[in-house]
Amino acid sequence: MPPAAQNYDLIVIGAGPGGVAAADTAALLGKRVAVVERNPAVGGAAVNTGTIPSKTLRETALAIAGVKSRALFGVDVSVRREAKVEDLLRHERLVTASEAHQMRTLLDRYGVMVYRGTGRFLDPNTVRVAHSVPPGGYTDLRADKIIVAIGSIPVRPAVFPFSHSRVHDSDELLYITSIPRSMAVVGAGVIGSEYACMFAALGVRVHLIDGRDVLLPFLDADLSDALKVAMERQGIVFWWKDQVETCRAPRAGEIELKLKSGHEMTVDHVLVCAGRREVGVRVSFRWTSTSARRCPTSTRWAT
Ligand SMILES: Cc1cc2nc3c(=O)[nH]c(=O)nc-3n(C[C@H](O)[C@H](O)[C@H](O)COP(=O)(O)OP(=O)(O)OC[C@H]3O[C@@H](n4cnc5c(N)ncnc54)[C@H](O)[C@@H]3O)c2cc1C
Repeated sequence: MPPAAQNYDLIVIGAGPGGVAAADTAALLGKRVAVVERNPAVGGAAVNTGTIPSKTLRETALAIAGVKSRALFGVDVSVRREAKVEDLLRHERLVTASEAHQMRTLLDRYGVMVYRGTGRFLDPNTVRVAHSVPPGGYTDLRADKIIVAIGSIPVRPAVFPFSHSRVHDSDELLYITSIPRSMAVVGAGVIGSEYACMFAALGVRVHLIDGRDVLLPFLDADLSDALKVAMERQGIVFWWKDQVETCRAPRAGEIELKLKSGHEMTVDHVLVCAGRREVGVRVSFRWTSTSARRCPTSTRWAT
């Protein structure tokens, strides 16, 4: 017989900033709360792959490039131009680990139970957690209220061979093993522009490719223009109103990109920042369906 379900007042699926804030708040209000997280560390994209890593890498790149001279914990700024990828990533690892630890400490302090594994619905009040670490197995959790805070993952357009070690999305970028000489960044949104500036600061020749012809169109037009000029001064080459048609990535040697406009370029690495998409939670016991795309919710965010 399968073990009985553990009962809680609230289950939160996903321990990103959204899920953790909900869990901490409910626990402070005296509720029995369980959080389900499939990654080894809590913090979600904000702590592990997104906000904090990208800002930390940017600070490190500026320090290494000598744009900022103040010392950063874990970064030997004397390495400057000879910087290796370990110099770039060391500070990021320290900051990320410390943020995740801080989030986890608060959850523990408030008495929130954290279950490591992937959650899916068995019925509207039961979540099954499939444990990914040995000895594996699963735990069933039951609650009146369940919050789905599962965030998003990078979009991976089919044209790019992501299995190649030098073709990355913004999550994988954190595992690069060398600083490229040249890089094509596909998508000039906030994430693409941020990483383009960071690599340009390190002296990498950066091509930024976008289907639109305005940088970050949600900005005031003057700001957008000023930012574009500043980025061009950094050496970033923009390819506006263009798209990658083919990406040929041999095991060794440069990656060849052909753009819709007919332009061709060769680069060391490709970083694809083509937006993010929802991941969905499995909702049927038979694993046959996932939550609807952009799941519609009520005015109280209930499905
Ligand atoms: C490169 C980059 C830079 C960014 N910069 C900024 C910035 O400067 N400012 C800003 O405000 N925002 C920024 N963001 C966005 C920010 O990171 C997200 O808005 C934020 O992380 C969303 O929080 P969340 O809790 O909704 O989801 P997430 O942080 O994505 O967390 C969701 C969690 O759910 C877990 N999960 C998913 N499915 C399951 C399942 N079935 N079972 C168990 N666990 C599951 C995931 O592992 C993850 O830990 C950036 C993002 C990126 C990628």
